[in-house]
Amino acid sequence: SPPSRLFPELQLHDVFIAVKTTRVFHRSRLELLLDTWVSRTREQTFIFTDSPDEGLQERLGSHLVITNCSAEHSHPALSCKMAAEFDAFLASGLRWFCHVDDDNYLNPRALLKLLKAFPQTLDVYVGRPSLNRPIHASEPQPRNRTRLVQFWFATGGAGFCINRKLALKMAPWASGPSFVDTSALIRLPDDCTVGYIVECKLGGHLQPSPLFHSHLETLQLLGAAQLPEQVTLSYGVFEGKLNVIKLHGPFSPEEDPSRFRSLHCLLYPDTPWCPQLLAR
Ligand code: UDP
Ligand code: MN
Repeated sequence: SPPSRLFPELQLHDVFIAVKTTRVFHRSRLELLLDTWVSRTREQTFIFTDSPDEGLQERLGSHLVITNCSAEHSHPALSCKMAAEFDAFLASGLRWFCHVDDDNYLNPRALLKLLKAFPQTLDVYVGRPSLNRPIHASEPQPRNRTRLVQFWFATGGAGFCINRKLALKMAPWASGPSFVDTSALIRLPDDCTVGYIVECKLGGHLQPSPLFHSHLETLQLLGAAQLPEQVTLSYGVFEGKLNVIKLHGPFSPEEDPSRFRSLHCLLYPDTPWCPQLLAR
């Protein structure tokens, strides 16, 4: 249906993008994101970390969010950050919440294309299913009983998005201190907790999308022609080897081990630090 005044066509500025990071990755991971995709999504991107950083503060201003979450790799600390992201999204009034890790490349054009395709009337939770089957959890019940539940969830390390309609329904389990409590209740990480709330508490469903990618999959398998269509990409080390997308240039693997700078130049060739094409 054509866009109307009531439901104007989705634009990038309707999307809230949350990046989760931690002190030790400010230099090694975040700088790369700020130089690449975040430079194209400044207005709607917020970086959630655990420690103040003068240099980042200067670059990001109010878009750097120092949470009170601890700088450790524990379920409560990571859930605390997810809660901060969720609350900031609710307060923003924007139409979509998208979460990514600090080792993700997010392609704004591909993201917008994906999100635009969802009817405004639906509750949407979209991402890459973490497993090829639902995960099981035991949900504590009154009188020391437990109930076995199962649900699908999107891998946090590949990024996922939730629309406002669904996020508002999630609030009783996800806003303020509730998210950390919910996560502790089922004793699972933050990304599983999101799936649990959507599927077990609200009867919703993860909408699987093959366009989100984490470094838990073999990234070289993506063909060069497919790269510009992917919503998220990642990089990392798997079994001692660098797991990265396959892209020839313009930067060498030594200059650009993650391949994110090369990808960014493919997507945005007018970037000042990209090798410029010869004047025509
Ligand atoms: N992270 C964090 N606190 C930590 C460790 C990691 O907030 O103590 C964040 C990190 O910045 C990243 C995400 O959690 O956004 C996943 O971390 P990482 O990529 O190191 O681990 P993975 O789970 O992907 O192997
Ligand atoms: Mn990672």
